[in-house]
Amino acid sequence: MAKIQVLSKAVADKIAAGEVAERPSAVVKELVENAMDAGASKIEVEIKQGGISYIRICDNGCGIPKDQVETAFLRHATSKLSEIEDLYRIGTMGFRGEALASICAVSQVELITKTAEGDEGVYLQLLHGEVVEKTPMACADGTTMVVKDLFANVPARMKFLKKDATEAGYVADLVSRIALSRPDIAFSYTCDGKEVFSTSGDGKLKNVILQIYGLDHAKALLPVDYVEDGVHISGVVGKPELARGNRTRQTLFVNGRFVKNHVLSKVAEEAFRNRMMVGKFPFFVISITLPTELVDVNVHPAKTEVKFANEKQIYDVAYHAIRNALFQQEKMETPKVSVPPVSATPASKREYVNPKLVKEYLAYTIPEEKKSVSFVREDVPKAPEVILEELLEEPEQKETHIIIEETPPKQEVMEEIVPVISQKKKPEIVGQVFDTYIICKTEEEMFLIDQHAAHERMRFESLKEEYFNQKKCAQLLLSPLVLNLDFREKQSVMENLTDFVRLGFEIEDFGGNAVIVQGAPIAADEAELRDLILELSDAMQEKRKHPVADFEEKALDMIACKGAIKANKRLSYPEMQDLLEKVLDMEDKGIGSCPHGRPIRIGFTKTEIERLFKRII
Ligand code: ADP
Ligand code: MG
Repeated sequence: MAKIQVLSKAVADKIAAGEVAERPSAVVKELVENAMDAGASKIEVEIKQGGISYIRICDNGCGIPKDQVETAFLRHATSKLSEIEDLYRIGTMGFRGEALASICAVSQVELITKTAEGDEGVYLQLLHGEVVEKTPMACADGTTMVVKDLFANVPARMKFLKKDATEAGYVADLVSRIALSRPDIAFSYTCDGKEVFSTSGDGKLKNVILQIYGLDHAKALLPVDYVEDGVHISGVVGKPELARGNRTRQTLFVNGRFVKNHVLSKVAEEAFRNRMMVGKFPFFVISITLPTELVDVNVHPAKTEVKFANEKQIYDVAYHAIRNALFQQEKMETPKVSVPPVSATPASKREYVNPKLVKEYLAYTIPEEKKSVSFVREDVPKAPEVILEELLEEPEQKETHIIIEETPPKQEVMEEIVPVISQKKKPEIVGQVFDTYIICKTEEEMFLIDQHAAHERMRFESLKEEYFNQKKCAQLLLSPLVLNLDFREKQSVMENLTDFVRLGFEIEDFGGNAVIVQGAPIAADEAELRDLILELSDAMQEKRKHPVADFEEKALDMIACKGAIKANKRLSYPEMQDLLEKVLDMEDKGIGSCPHGRPIRIGFTKTEIERLFKRII
């Protein structure tokens, strides 16, 4: 072995640079954070060729005194931390005092800076860590840093960079998140000579969102503002319609710093449960502010991960903050499903309301909280669903009937609607529309069944029964399936093998990064099975970190969803008939929605249709 020796400064700096200045976006992050720490109210970011050939950050902050400019580039030189105790009370973005040293070790840096007190500014140029030039220069208060030819002296790292456009994408993403974190600072971002976006610095988060995501987003925001036990959650969540198929539009700040926290994303998603389709992720920009001693941001060199002293508490508060925001909005908005205007109708003209339909309607449109908590004051107009709820509770009101001239009231039949559907007169299938909904009719009503929701719920119920009665639910696959995973995926599946077995999978190690699936609780094609196994393994990993009460149900729900008849699939008459019968069976057991809370069927009674056509009033 070679002799042990201390690395030269140049080598040590290059190694350290790899940690801090991993790629252009990391350099931009450090420089923008320095500008923010310097109290700037205006920060310009400009890059060329993905930031590899050119990065310029210009701020109007406090500047660096002329005689300290060289010191700023020394390792562990910082104006923000001097005592070890300070480490636990970090209020500034940077504190390690190594960013400038690292950056200048692997690039050419030019600095122009002036403090308000200084009579003139200074220009400093460094090449690969060595000062090349220092001269006085007349300039405005503040600091401009230019970083050129990043990694020109570290070819190995240069090779790790991606295409210019990809690197530029990372920078754009970063600058936009920082802009979201500080609506009070005017940011501008320019790439290859074109301004991509700029914010006004007027302090309004909504305006930053307008600049970055556009009008659709700015128009569909719900404010979040909630304090509990010293933890303040603020920001906005997007209405469910802004949800997308991935999490790239989720932004989280902890004490002003952009962080990634998978669990908090899940918490937010959990808060949206039943309001959003599975596989969709909500839009949000959320800030968590808490005493600095309760959070450790020093766990990762790039500082995008956080550790909370009391994780569970933070997650709980975040969950309630978001639920609250959603609840407030729903309280204000009239439900989208149109309901008969019962309250406006004199009692004598009130119509009998089919309790079953009402229950379904309530289950679909009313958030959990409303079902138990009565928030309606007597002096405010009642929401239609509250009126409907009262109708259900007060028997004497249920018996009031509308007088219909053309069709005399058939009280006995109407009151029997529920049994009629399921026992006396079986609904008939009229057909299928949009390859997704089955149209059915009885003498008294017509309704549509959502084939996917219905089948999913049916599968969910039978999987649940098999699972909880410990019946074996694995079906052997006709031909075993080899899944090639990446190393993390493989590791995660293998770690959770017992859970997979319990859910009805037969999975074995197949060497390398592959597993072989011999049996599964559902028949599904390769792509679906792969997705399902990965989704489940994600959920199981999550569960290990944060136990979930009804994990089994969620897992079964995932399986049910994957194996269910899809929308946009033409069904044969027997298939429809089969599904209809299952739906009726489930309704007899009181099950009226898919596991995600979407209704299985919606319908109109004959009278409702007549009213819509204005045959009756
Ligand atoms: P840190 O930010 O961790 O202190 P850096 O290496 O990023 O370490 O910066 C070193 C020092 O240089 C900072 O502590 C600060 O005093 C000074 N500095 C860097 N950038 C700026 C800026 N844009 N405006 C004013 N001072 C700055
Ligand atoms: Mg810094």
